[in-house]
Order: sequence, then structure tokens, then C-alpha cells
Amino acid sequence: APALRTRDVCLEYPDGTDAEGRPRTVRALDHVSLELRRGVMTALIGPSGSGKSSLLAVAAALIKPTSGSVFVAGQSLTELPEKDLARIRRGHTGMVFQQPNLLAALTSREQLVLAAHVAGARGKELHAARTRADELLEQVGMVDCGDRRPHQLSGGQRQRVNIARALMNDPQLLLVDEPTAALDQERSRSVMELLADLTHRFGLASLVVTHDTEFVPLTDRCVSMEDGRLQ
Ligand code: ADP
Ligand code: ADP
Repeated sequence: APALRTRDVCLEYPDGTDAEGRPRTVRALDHVSLELRRGVMTALIGPSGSGKSSLLAVAAALIKPTSGSVFVAGQSLTELPEKDLARIRRGHTGMVFQQPNLLAALTSREQLVLAAHVAGARGKELHAARTRADELLEQVGMVDCGDRRPHQLSGGQRQRVNIARALMNDPQLLLVDEPTAALDQERSRSVMELLADLTHRFGLASLVVTHDTEFVPLTDRCVSMEDGRLQ
């Protein structure tokens, strides 16, 4: 089964009331059907307000669509109770946002170990998490930065730690929102190259929102959104 499949997904947000006081809605996703397979990096492009972040939020099981279905590794998300959704969010899906939001007090290694702790690792598992953290830091080219805190890292390095952290719980699906928004052109390219590389090395199904069409050739596939519809 694909790591993610959406079928006819629609999402409406409440949007105040009309002149007669009836509730209004804005349609952010309009019958979106998309499949993401492992080992394939997909670029998601489209103008601001076209629904890209909404699609990521639905794929991450952070919001339930108004209608349609979402399947994660063959399991229907729309039918699962909240506690199973939480497990899928932690175990199946890694997320990377524009701003690396690392914790100021923690070293790179500790940021990664904390992700394992939050996902339930204790005792011996935490010990294994330290080893995995160091391996992942190496995979993202940050082997010497395990003991550094965020203020001792450059913007590009912080985003690398952020990406390594997203991989801590061994996800199949990697959802990335504008990872290069805070970086200059050269560092943006190296972060996008890293994401492509990790996608292939770990067999991730990755979906990367980018406004920078310059980097689309680094991906395997490109889909674009307009007015909530997938083109
Ligand atoms: P993009 O990521 O492509 O900029 P979004 O998914 O953020 O697009 O937004 C899609 C549409 O949904 C836009 O019209 C936006 O104004 C609207 N929208 C997004 N989030 C909310 C929200 N929380 N409440 C109401 N409307 C929203
Ligand atoms: P990146 O392309 O990852 O943003 P930079 O060009 O900013 O990297 O940094 C180049 C090198 O300089 C890094 O590998 C790092 O070792 C070092 N470096 C950059 N900023 C800092 C900092 N604030 N503290 C310590 N070392 C730094």
C-alpha cells in the first residue's frame, strides 16, 4: 500500500457568518486525491492560499477532512479513534516546518532523544535512541554538532537537526513545509538535496511544500495546487 493515499478529500474551515447570520465556510481542499509511495520525493507547489498547508495537516492526521478518506499504509484514518491517530502521528509521520523550532536549552543530540522520549521510549530504548540520534546526525552531515545548542548552529545546520529529529521515530511519511523559507539560495539547495537523498536512502514517501520552483528538478515528482484543487 502507498504510505499515504487521499481520496476525494474536501476540507472546509468555518469563516464567520453571512449577512443573514448563517455560518459561512471556506473550502481549503476540493476533492483532493493523491498517492505518495515510499522512496519518492514529491514537490507540492501552488500560490499562497491554494491549500498546501491544509493538505499537509490532513496528511499528518492533525485535522480531519470534512469529507473523503485518508489512508495511511492501507489504514483508513477517517475511521480511527483519536488515540490511534496520535500513535500514527508519532510513529508513521515525520514533520518538518519552516522554522526549525528547536529547544534552546538542548543540544542537537538531546533534541533527537527527546523526540523518542515523547513517543514513549524509556530505559533501554532511550539508550538506543542516543545511538540512533548520533547515526542520524551523521546522516544529515552534522556529526560534529551533537553537543551544540541551537544558538551555536547556523540556520542551515538547525534545519538539518530539525530534519534528523523528524526521522527519529522511523517514519514512512515525511511532510515538509517550506523548509528553506529562512535560508539563502545556496543553503536552500543543500537542504533540498539532503531531503532528496534521505528520501531515497530511507525509502521515505516525502511531500515537500516549496515556493521555489528552482528546486523542483531535485525532486522525483511535482504536483501543484490551485484553489484547493490538485492540478
Ligand atoms: P497555502 O498553504 O497554500 O497557503 P492554506 O492551506 O494555508 O494554503 O489555505 C487554504 C485556504 O484556507 C485559504 O483560503 C485560507 O485562507 C484558508 N484557511 C487556512 N487555514 C484556515 C483556518 N484555520 N481558518 C479559516 N480559514 C483558513
Ligand atoms: P550551513 O550551510 O549549514 O548554513 P554555514 O555556511 O552557515 O553552514 O556554516 C559553515 C560552517 O561554519 C558550519 O559547518 C559550522 O561548523 C560553522 N558555523 C556556522 N555558524 C556557526 C555558529 N554560530 N557557531 C559555531 N559554528 C558555526
